[in-house]
Amino acid sequence: MTDIKSMLPGEIEAALRELGEPKYRAGQIFQWLSRGVRSFEEMTNLSKPLREKLSSEFEIPSLTMLRKQVSKLDGTIKYLWELPDGNAVETVVMRYHHGNTVCISSQVGCRQGCAFCASTIGGLIRNLRPSEMLEEVLSSERESGLKISNIVLMGIGEPLDNYDNVMRFLRLVNHPDGANIGMRHISLSTCGLIERFEDLAAEDLPLTLSVSLHAPDDETRSKIMPANRGRGVEALIAACEKYYQTTGRRISFEYAMIDGVNDTPEHARLLARHARRVSAHVNLIPLNHVEERPFQPSTPEHLKQFIRILTDAGANVTVRRTLGGDVDASCGQLRKKVAENRA
Ligand code: SAH
Repeated sequence: MTDIKSMLPGEIEAALRELGEPKYRAGQIFQWLSRGVRSFEEMTNLSKPLREKLSSEFEIPSLTMLRKQVSKLDGTIKYLWELPDGNAVETVVMRYHHGNTVCISSQVGCRQGCAFCASTIGGLIRNLRPSEMLEEVLSSERESGLKISNIVLMGIGEPLDNYDNVMRFLRLVNHPDGANIGMRHISLSTCGLIERFEDLAAEDLPLTLSVSLHAPDDETRSKIMPANRGRGVEALIAACEKYYQTTGRRISFEYAMIDGVNDTPEHARLLARHARRVSAHVNLIPLNHVEERPFQPSTPEHLKQFIRILTDAGANVTVRRTLGGDVDASCGQLRKKVAENRA
């Protein structure tokens, strides 16, 4: 059966035409779907025969909440959702002054193998469908009662490894008859699959591209991020430069500070050079320690020194505030724990 929740209004319209139905029904159906109905039965302004016809042609994939954790420290909410096929993904809702932000997963698991990350431990299971990503946003909004104004694709998975579905999700969540979240309020984070950067620039979407750099030289980066092998830092920075020139959109470099791995003054100087070259904003993240991983966050002294070198070199730097420290609110930690307990 066709997943109707992954369809844009124009596509629903075309499908209705084939069923001999008027096209204005498409808008009604899209609005019902955006409101989170789980069956065509609930679409009460459609005739019964039409609802039956739709039920036999289309499915409406929905998420079921498996677990919810609310941080006592800052109100961050972490959801674990069950997908229609029994797999599970995480979504985090963070409350910022500039609005509530939802951090969504784009894949079940991940095949990029970053050495410090929990999401990649079991490898990639499958891509998320557009409707499943959309439901992460809509279900979080409904369940929390919070208005979501920003989206970051920084949960489980590599968005550019699920390119077509992610692009479709972006158009769905941006649609004025649906969630209507502006592209300028959306950030897409990648470990650097540069072969997709030109495609992304050509989409001409005013979103923010975040690049998980985490190391400014090939030796360090290839050690902790297998995605660097065969691509290399120079090619990545060149791709960022081109992206910036084509789109005029400033890139942000994510940099998790890992004790004794990527936090020396040499790393800072080289990072500053890359950042200046592409006018990137550097976002330093205190590493979140993952049980199965040997890495620890940098010491406050090293972090301070690192920031000073970057700032002195004229780079634009911020340190990300850690939210949800008491709810496993990062990168596959909750999904993994629950999967282990179920096993
Ligand atoms: N695959 C995408 C998006 C998912 S991860 C990417 O690589 O960008 C979102 C961010 O969290 C990435 O910058 C990732 O490198 C970072 N991250 C993963 N594990 C982390 C950890 N233990 N501590 C801090 N940041 C981490």
